[in-house]
Amino acid sequence: MIKYPMVDLVGQYRKIEHEVDAAIGEVLNSAAFINGPAVKTFQKNLEEYLDIKHVIPCGNGTDALQVALMALGLQPGDEVITTSFTFIATAEVIALLKLTPVLVDVDPDTFNIAPKAIEQAITPKTKAIIPVHLFGQCADMHAIKEIAKKHNLYVVEDTAQAIGAEYTCYNSGNVKKAGTIGDIGCTSFFPSKNLGCYGDGGAIFTDNDELAEQMRAIVNHGMKVRYYHDYIGVNSRLDSIQAAVLDIKLKHLDEYNTARHQAANYYNQAFADNPKIKTPVTASFTNHVFHQYTLVLKDVDREGLMKHLAEKGIASAVYYPVPLHMQKAYIDPRYKEGDFPVTEALSKSVLSLPIHTELTEEMQKEITEAVLEFVG
Ligand SMILES: *Cc1c(COP(=O)(O)O)cnc(C)c1O
Repeated sequence: MIKYPMVDLVGQYRKIEHEVDAAIGEVLNSAAFINGPAVKTFQKNLEEYLDIKHVIPCGNGTDALQVALMALGLQPGDEVITTSFTFIATAEVIALLKLTPVLVDVDPDTFNIAPKAIEQAITPKTKAIIPVHLFGQCADMHAIKEIAKKHNLYVVEDTAQAIGAEYTCYNSGNVKKAGTIGDIGCTSFFPSKNLGCYGDGGAIFTDNDELAEQMRAIVNHGMKVRYYHDYIGVNSRLDSIQAAVLDIKLKHLDEYNTARHQAANYYNQAFADNPKIKTPVTASFTNHVFHQYTLVLKDVDREGLMKHLAEKGIASAVYYPVPLHMQKAYIDPRYKEGDFPVTEALSKSVLSLPIHTELTEEMQKEITEAVLEFVG
């Protein structure tokens, strides 16, 4: 029996139950299920929260990435650079659009895409870079944007794991929210994300009016005027019930991220003196919203530790056990085992512990003691 799961969405719901039930009831009573007022309200509030001109709600985070790439007018064979250490969706949409995913290795401390590796992967066919703000902290966006400017590339941020994270540019000192730094930002509202709904949902962010207009059309069958189709589009909408839930949770997002941060601090302190455990390293230019709390284990039997924790009712998980270039569907003669040594080493040594808004110190005490009991 799992006593301490990776996330506790029921516990979180209990605290906002009345508000959420009333908001869902309102949608049910209006029957405005698609593109209803709840979607417009959430869109506006998220634009304000992120300080961005345009939020385009859509069906999920994977669609957000796909629609962003569709709007950039890339041609089959164009190359898109992304990280080898991410959830599959990032590379999946590149492949689906018959573009060529070009993978690069990550920084061993932050797990985020390494700017130097991006530069080395650029060819005349490169058109865009997709940095992923993995586990809740921003990639090195200043360096990435400099590379993009130099080579005339688009930057599409995958901010599915970092909504609410703040990035401070070490050049200008400007502070921006994750997902509003590049040309387009894409996020997911999958239930377990830091801002999650009660089904599927996603959104695209941009300050660019033209791209916004186009993406707003693409998510709705490529139409601006009903039944007049200017683009080949998709059907990818955020429904009103999800928007109503998200609008309530958005008000709590900063408080949720603070709770995650506090939980991370507890773990950091508990593991600080253990030479076999490397706790998360946050880069100086970003804060960390800890979508995941991920350790790097040294000389620890990871499967044994997971089993030990499971026996005590404590969940743990490996994000991600197989690097993209070694996934069956993505086997490619351009890549072989050994090409991305940091990613490959991480995939064998990372372990994520439960992190969410409902953790108490008592729970964390039990979890950390169980980890240390095994690790020694
Ligand atoms: C969750 C996630 C996605 C996909 O989001 P969905 O809403 O599940 O489609 C994309 N990229 C990253 C990094 C994610 O964590």
